[in-house]
Amino acid sequence: MILANLHTHCHFCDGAGEPRAFVEAALAKGFKVLGFSSHAPIPFASEWTMAEGRMDDYLRAVAALKEEYRGKIEIYTGLEIDYFEGDPRNVFTDYSVDYIIGSVHFFADMSNRRYYSIDGTDAEFRETLETLFGGDMQRFADAYYRQVAAMITKHRPSVVGHLDVIKKNNGTGKYFAEEEAWYRQLIDGVLAVIKAHGTIVEVNTGGISRGYIQEPYPSLWILKKCRQLGIPVMITSDAHCPEHLDAHFDLARERLKEVGYDEQYVLQGSIWRRTAL
Ligand SMILES: [Zn+2]
Ligand SMILES: [Zn+2]
Repeated sequence: MILANLHTHCHFCDGAGEPRAFVEAALAKGFKVLGFSSHAPIPFASEWTMAEGRMDDYLRAVAALKEEYRGKIEIYTGLEIDYFEGDPRNVFTDYSVDYIIGSVHFFADMSNRRYYSIDGTDAEFRETLETLFGGDMQRFADAYYRQVAAMITKHRPSVVGHLDVIKKNNGTGKYFAEEEAWYRQLIDGVLAVIKAHGTIVEVNTGGISRGYIQEPYPSLWILKKCRQLGIPVMITSDAHCPEHLDAHFDLARERLKEVGYDEQYVLQGSIWRRTAL
C-alpha cells in the first residue's frame, strides 16, 4: 500500500507542529504523498479554523515545501472546508488548491452569528440537540445528512470528510441506534448523492486517535454499502500532529479489505489514481 495522507492539520489551524515537521515525519514513516488540509476560515469566532489573514501564509508555506521536497515526497495543498446552510461566501471556489475535503462540523444561525457544533464535545453536542431540535435525534441526524448532501451537490468537493461524524459522541448508542430504519434510510440517501457525484469517502481514523470512538468513520456497515455501490475510498488519519500521520491505518485497511475493497484513491502526479491496498 502506498503510504499517503491527505487529511492533516498543522499549526496553521488547530493542529500542533509546523508543516515542515509533518513532511519530515512523513518521510521518516516512508510516505510517498502528503496533503495539508487546514480548516478554511469560517465567518464566526473560532479556535480551530485558520483566520482569513493566515490563508496567504499557509498557501505560501505549503508551496515552498512542495518545491523543497520535490523528488522526495509529493506534497499537495488542500483545505478542509466547512459547509453550512446560509453561508453568504463562496469559500469553495475562493482559493486555488489541489483538492478540497468538504465537511459539516456545525449548524449555523447567521441571525445571531453563532454556530452549533456537531462534532465537538459531548456537552456541545447535547446543546445543539436540545437548542435546535428539542432533543429529537432523528431531526438532528436528518438535518446533518441534508447539509452533507447539499454540500456535495452544490460544491462537489473531491472528498467528503468523516461522513458519519454525528456518531462521535454516541458511544454504544447513547443518542441513537445505527440499526434503526430511519438512520439507515438517511445513510442510503446520502450515499446515493455521493455515488452520483463520484465523491471520495475517506476512511478517517481521527476519532480513534483523539479517544472518542474505537472504529473509523464511517461505520463498517456503511463501508459495506459504499463497496456495493462502487464508491471510491481513501484512508486518512485526520492527523493533528506529525506522530498521528499513519495512526490506525492498519485498522482502516483491514476494515476496507473486510468489505471487499482492494484499492483506494490517492493523489499522484496531481491526478486521483486507484492504488492497491
Ligand atoms: Zn473535520
Ligand atoms: Zn480534519
